[in-house]
Amino acid sequence: MVHGPCGTININSPCMRDGQCCKSFPKQFKDDTEENVNGYPIYRRRATEPVQVGKYSIDNRWVVPYNPWLLKKFNAHINVEVCASVKSVKYLYKYVYKGHDAASVKIQKEGALDHDEILSFVEGRYVSTPEAMWRLNEFNLSHKSHTVVRLAVHLPQQQPIVYQDGQEAQAIERAALRKTTLTSWFELNKNDPSAHNSSYSDIPQYYMFDKSTTNWKKRQCGGQNVIGRLPVVSILDIERQLRMLFAMICGFGEVEDVPDLWVQHQVSLCEDFVHRYSEQTGPHYTLADIEELLTSYNLSLQKLHLPTVDLPASVLERVNFDVVEEQAKPNSYTMQLNSEQRNVVEILLSAVYNNAADTPKCYFLDGPAGTGKTFVYSTLLLTIRGTGDDVIPVASAGIAATILIRGRTAHSVFKIPIDLNATSTCNLKPNTKEADM
Ligand SMILES: [Zn+2]
Repeated sequence: MVHGPCGTININSPCMRDGQCCKSFPKQFKDDTEENVNGYPIYRRRATEPVQVGKYSIDNRWVVPYNPWLLKKFNAHINVEVCASVKSVKYLYKYVYKGHDAASVKIQKEGALDHDEILSFVEGRYVSTPEAMWRLNEFNLSHKSHTVVRLAVHLPQQQPIVYQDGQEAQAIERAALRKTTLTSWFELNKNDPSAHNSSYSDIPQYYMFDKSTTNWKKRQCGGQNVIGRLPVVSILDIERQLRMLFAMICGFGEVEDVPDLWVQHQVSLCEDFVHRYSEQTGPHYTLADIEELLTSYNLSLQKLHLPTVDLPASVLERVNFDVVEEQAKPNSYTMQLNSEQRNVVEILLSAVYNNAADTPKCYFLDGPAGTGKTFVYSTLLLTIRGTGDDVIPVASAGIAATILIRGRTAHSVFKIPIDLNATSTCNLKPNTKEADM
């Protein structure tokens, strides 16, 4: 069970692709077996003396994983791998229900191929006694308990539309006649007072969304096994896109008159800031935000002959929450801490505000479920925000991020790509507001 050899000692080995062994031999010596993120484990390979195999000197790094009992029993080369990652659960599940893969190989002299496809299928497939019994009795192979209904969330007139190339106009016409689960729910509430008793997320338990008419229809029965699923809409998810697009156009485009572009689209660009502040100050926040975005293109408001503004950067950072409101909360939280939680909070707060070089800054809080870790986090977040400082609570998963106050996922904060591999990097751009934070 020795691979190759390949690589520099035998570059013509069939396993070589672009100068590298496609099976990654020779492996490394290892004292212990390690789990691998994507793929088979990295097995223990003890650094023993090499032995001579044919004209090559071979050691443990070249051995293909095997099982001595199987090798002796079948007198054949059999490659064995340990399936220990959670991904193998899906694999096992698939084969339990799909049946087994089998291939039959026949070697015969040249000439007419005598091949009975049905016979080789029947002979190539093994059905065990319990499986045969299960299938003959037509027992269920799978079971579904609940129906999950996805509920749309979107701004007015901003529902997603799927269209084929060249059929954009038809798609818009069609979309104008159809309601989404959200717009249809608004209509339902207009016409049916009994719908007022349930929130949007609960509505699928009492009403069924008829996809052909795009109307919610009252259920006769069966609603208890229905779950409505809403996408998470974070409070931090402010108005998207538009100012970034403006900065991009300035950075890459060949707009002759940028100030004119600003004047033409000022209302749309300022909309959210005007709503949050006032008709007068909104445009100031807008320009300050655009200025921030322009820095990554080495541009400024001044260079583009846009009106300049003088707003302290800290104003922009904190627009997302109300400091006064935050200050009222931490006291009530701190009062409810037990002595162990209080101890944790005190240690962490002193780590935050002690700038001595030897102060540890990285902490790991461990505790069984239900012991109040989230409560500790919330107290910390509120206390720090209450002093006017900002915190970004980051969690690995969306569900963990939603239970933290204004929590976000690591993927969102650090712009980590969704498909990760060994060479992935974060897409956080330098000189942006996010990077500064
Ligand atoms: Zn190789």
